This record gives sequence, structure tokens and C-alpha cells, in this order.
Amino acid sequence: MRAFGTTIFAEMSALAAQTGSINLGQGFPDTDGPAAMLDRAVQAIGSGLNQYPPGPGTLELRQAVSEHRLAHYGLTYAADGEILVTVGATEAIAATVLALCEPGDEVIAFEPYYDSYAASIALAGARLTAVTMRPVDGRFTFDPDELRAAVTPRTKAILVNSPHNPTGTVFTRAELTAIAGLCQEAGLIAITDEVYEHLTFDGVEHIPLATLPGMRERTVMISSAGKTFSVTGWKTGWVCAPAPLVRAVNTVKQFLTYTASAPWQLAVAYGLRQELEWVAALRSGLQDKRDRLMEGLAAAGFEVLRPSGTYFVQTDIRPLGFTDGMDLARRLPELAGVVAIPTQVFYEHPERGTHFVRFAFCKKDEVIDEAVTRLKRLSA
Ligand SMILES: *Cc1c(COP(=O)(O)O)cnc(C)c1O
Repeated sequence: MRAFGTTIFAEMSALAAQTGSINLGQGFPDTDGPAAMLDRAVQAIGSGLNQYPPGPGTLELRQAVSEHRLAHYGLTYAADGEILVTVGATEAIAATVLALCEPGDEVIAFEPYYDSYAASIALAGARLTAVTMRPVDGRFTFDPDELRAAVTPRTKAILVNSPHNPTGTVFTRAELTAIAGLCQEAGLIAITDEVYEHLTFDGVEHIPLATLPGMRERTVMISSAGKTFSVTGWKTGWVCAPAPLVRAVNTVKQFLTYTASAPWQLAVAYGLRQELEWVAALRSGLQDKRDRLMEGLAAAGFEVLRPSGTYFVQTDIRPLGFTDGMDLARRLPELAGVVAIPTQVFYEHPERGTHFVRFAFCKKDEVIDEAVTRLKRLSA
């Protein structure tokens, strides 16, 4: 694991703290989740729910997840055997990859990708095959032929993240159909990272891959409370899949963490049952923030790519006269008092993302406005 060093988020957040810069790097909100849900966690601690919950997770949360999958997506998952609570989506991804892959196996992921994918695949001794997403008419997408060409006899699984971090793409039914067809032809398991499932904009609908014909049986569907309820520090996620797959993931999960923290689980069960209106308000608020930041970045001279979901907006830095996003990100605190993330760190082929920089908009309006004022210095 030596090659993995420290994550870019640690480096850039430390740089923000050192220089007093506005941190639009790491994707965490600067406001709290629903108050009644936070109270539930406090109540759970006060009422003695402080010992190990059952390995697969508190029954109440598994039931709430089961109801939510059915109500939202028409998907049926049994609370007993088909749902597993994890320490965030991060543990769910790691445990799934470790459970499914032998050394030498291959996992396909779309680059740029969330940074834990490459690390989880390396932990399993497996190999990551990257299929590159590129902007077409201002939206990042992939070439189905390149995806098909990435499959080999050693390919075990494909990691599908939609809504996609860091590009903000929400896969269309046509894109998902191409992925589903390939999974069925080549006998692949789909591991879907759906942590932004509720955070889509402009009326764009998130379609879980498991809802496509023939896909529920071969999909490990991963969600998390962190992004949905603005509680990224709670690290509470879950896996939904057919029982044999959940059993395999749990076999690994029980030796990574055994079980997830108890108090959050009850609070998240409450959130899934009672706070979906709060989530709808979060979504429309985030859409306004996206527009606010996009407008500001464009006025500051960036070329801005419009995201349909997530916390993030991609920019092309070349109109400002820069070519290397890593170089710009390291200098940005000094040039403008703002921190952002160079997108190239999310690539297997960094040269394909050299000129992109990612900004997070899950911040208070006044923080976004101040960042924009500062970024306008770049072209002044
Ligand atoms: C934030 C994030 C995660 C991690 O979720 P946790 O529940 O905090 O572990 C996983 N995947 C993507 C794409 C994310 O943006």
C-alpha cells in the first residue's frame, strides 16, 4: 500500500487550515442534518444503546432500509439476510471487493473515480481497469465500446458510481442498459456506489442499476446516510444484495469492524422513515448552491461543466492560462485563498485529467460567495 501515501484530501485540507483558505476541496457540508434525527442519536446514547449491536446491523435500521428500497425503487430486499449495515459506504466497498476478488482478478471502474476504489482493489490483490469518462457536450460520459474492450476473462466485477463523484454525471437509462448488458454477457457482479442517490438536480432521476431487468440478482447496491442526511461523520452505510452476496460481504465485514456503531443506526432508521422531506429540501438547496458556484466560477474565468448530481462541479482551467490542475491546486491558496482538488488524482491515467479541478458547493452561500470573490483575482 506504500504507493497510496496520504490522500489528496488530507493534503489539501491541511493546506487550507495552514493558509486560512476557504476549503472547497473535501466534500462535506458545513451545516447539520435534520435536528430530530440528531436528537435520536443523543436519545439512543442516553437510553443505554451503547454496546455491540447485531453483526448485520440493528434490525430497526435494516427494516427501515428495506421499506425505503421498496417505496423509492420498487426493490424488495429482506431485512433479514439481504441487508447489511456497514461503517459507511467506504467499508461496504472494501468488504465487497475483498469478498468477491481473488488476487489477479480484475475490477472495472470509471475514471475519474472515488479514491477508495483503487485502494480497496489493491488490498484484495486485484487489478483496477479504468474506463475513462470524457466530457461530451459538457457532460462526462463513457464510450460503450471502450467499456466492452475492458472486459477480460479475469474481470470479476464493475464498480458503478452514479450519481458520479467527481464528475457529477448521473447515468442515463441508456448508459445503465449498456452496463447491464455487459454484466450479463460477461457474468460480472455490479458493485454500485449510490451515496448521492438523493442529490440530483434539474429533475434528473437517479436510476439504481439493480432496477434494470436481470440486474438485482447480480448487484451489490451500496448507500450511506452521510451524504443523504448531511452527517458524513456518522459513517453509517448499508449493502443491499441477494443473500449469498450479502453473506460473502459480511464474512469479510465481520473481521474488518465486526459491526457498525449502535446509536447512529437508530437515528438513521428514523431519518429514512421521517426525514425524506428534509432531504428534498437539501436537494433543492444544493441545486441553488450549484448554480451559485457555477456562475461564480464562470465569472472568474473557468470553463464550468454542469453536474446533474453530487456535491461537486468540474472546471477546465485552461481558459485562465493554466494547464496543470495539481500545480494550480497547490498554488491556489497563495493566489486566491481557496482550496480545490486536482481531478487528475482520481485517474489511473492522470494525463487524461490534467486540466480539470474539482470544487465542492455543499457550503453556506456566504462561503461560496467569498470563495468566488477571491477566485476572481485569478483573472484580474
Ligand atoms: C463520500 C463518498 C463515499 C464514502 O461514504 P461514507 O459513507 O462516508 O463511507 C463513497 N463513495 C463516494 C462516491 C463518496 O463521495
